[in-house]
Amino acid sequence: MRCTSEDCSGTYEPREGVHTARRGDQIVVINHVPAEVCTVCGDVLLMPETVRRLEVLRHTTAPPARTVPLYEFTDAVSASASRAADASDRRVRVATAIIPS
Ligand SMILES: [Zn+2]
Repeated sequence: MRCTSEDCSGTYEPREGVHTARRGDQIVVINHVPAEVCTVCGDVLLMPETVRRLEVLRHTTAPPARTVPLYEFTDAVSASASRAADASDRRVRVATAIIPS
C-alpha cells in the first residue's frame, strides 16, 4: 500500500516493532508489535485489532514477560564525546517513539 503521508513515494511493508506507552507514572514496553511501516518516511500504521491488544496490555496487571533497563536522558549529557556534532543544529530523522510525559 502506498504511503499516506503527503509527498511521500514510499510504500508500507509489514514489520514488527517496540511500542512504548505510559501507565500512570510507569512506562510500559511492548515487544514484537506487528505494524505496517513506510519504507521511505517511517510512517507507522497499526491494525485496529493491534491497537485493541496494545490497550489490553497497557492496562493488564499480569506480570511482564521481561523487564528492561530504563535510563534518564539527562544522565547522558556529560558523556557527550563529540562537541563538533553538538555545534551543528541540523536536525536528524531517526526511528524512535517520543511519547508525551
Ligand atoms: Zn512514507
